[in-house]
Amino acid sequence: MLTAHRDEPLRTCPAGRPSAAREQAGAINCAEFVEVVTEFLDAAMGEPTELRCLVHLARCEGCETYLDQFRQTVAAVGAQPGPDLPASARDQLLGAFRSLRRD
Ligand SMILES: [Zn+2]
Repeated sequence: MLTAHRDEPLRTCPAGRPSAAREQAGAINCAEFVEVVTEFLDAAMGEPTELRCLVHLARCEGCETYLDQFRQTVAAVGAQPGPDLPASARDQLLGAFRSLRRD
């Protein structure tokens, strides 16, 4: 009863808002995030890059949703990632970055 399609093509950021994707020091953009999302879930990237992803996620709802869906798909196909950061630490970081969000 598995309905996840693992050959579904990668989409670009669903939000597609230029302002959210604006490149800033220390952050990555939507296209970059989509490219590294599997590494992000596998904790296969260095911590600095992971933090840059978290900064982007805090700013971009589209990519946060994308990550959520991607994570669910990964779980559905039974390939559980082993993240470096515990989920609770990740959530705390996300919350911290969110509170720093400035326009
Ligand atoms: Zn994005």
